[in-house]
Amino acid sequence: MMGELEIVKHLGHVMVRDKSGFYCEKCHFHWKSQPKTSCPTLPRYRNMRETPEIFQPASEMRRTYRMKPAPDQKPVAVRRGLGRGHQWTLLYDIRECVPIRRRKKRT
Ligand SMILES: [Zn+2]
Repeated sequence: MMGELEIVKHLGHVMVRDKSGFYCEKCHFHWKSQPKTSCPTLPRYRNMRETPEIFQPASEMRRTYRMKPAPDQKPVAVRRGLGRGHQWTLLYDIRECVPIRRRKKRT
């Protein structure tokens, strides 16, 4: 049937299939053939350069900005982790983060 899109559910992805391949509505990614890795269920970025500056992993938030995710804050996106494997680095929106209180040193 022309113009009808096929929905493919695979490894947690919910993908729309068309001539150019597969597009996941959950992680906003596109493949030419079915992905072999599971869906992170959040928008993903390939690398640091692609990631908006307001989205940072908790470690980077702490180091560079002296901020941390708020207690009930949820990650907004993921980024491919460094090294092998299919681990995702969770990214938090810096605008929702809270400053880290620095303990005063007693002298
Ligand atoms: Zn997906």
